[in-house]
Amino acid sequence: MSTLIAEQLFSFCPRCGAHAFGWRYQRLFVCASCDFHYYVNAGAAGGVIIVDDRGRILLTRRSIDPSKGRLDLPGGFVEFGETAEDAIRREVREELNITLGDLDYLCSFPNRYAHKGVLYDTLDLIFVGRVHNLEGMRTMDEVEEIVFVAPTDVNFCELAFPSIRKALELYTARAAGNKPRAGASTS
Ligand SMILES: [Zn+2]
Repeated sequence: MSTLIAEQLFSFCPRCGAHAFGWRYQRLFVCASCDFHYYVNAGAAGGVIIVDDRGRILLTRRSIDPSKGRLDLPGGFVEFGETAEDAIRREVREELNITLGDLDYLCSFPNRYAHKGVLYDTLDLIFVGRVHNLEGMRTMDEVEEIVFVAPTDVNFCELAFPSIRKALELYTARAAGNKPRAGASTS
């Protein structure tokens, strides 16, 4: 099955049915017959860098396509009416059976996500989160394995998506820069 990008999705107008529905420019379809306008927007998705009390990052190995078998951050698509934080908390419960503590916004990066023949444009909103209690954590929805890695040991080639790689590059660079220098006073 070929994968369609946004401008290839529709050719018939959903309002009048004319075979005159075309991609006008970025995000916008227009019907040449009835002037119906329809925007295809990037989907919002949330991901979270969960750090344990030793500073290690929690990564999940994907059990489904796209990028099955590769490492990812917990998270997923934001539902209508949800905040990114709500979506991340819901996804973390569904994927790992744990409850997230505070979330701090880190960054956003665009991504493309292939599903059942459509390539969806997304905007991935990445947060840093803490978990106070990992008891009961287990692999659930869409997760094959849970992996903890030190920021210095992240294998960027093994990550599922460019947006996740860029967010982890940013986080690990900051974590390295924020470390106290050897011998520096901590007072
Ligand atoms: Zn029309």
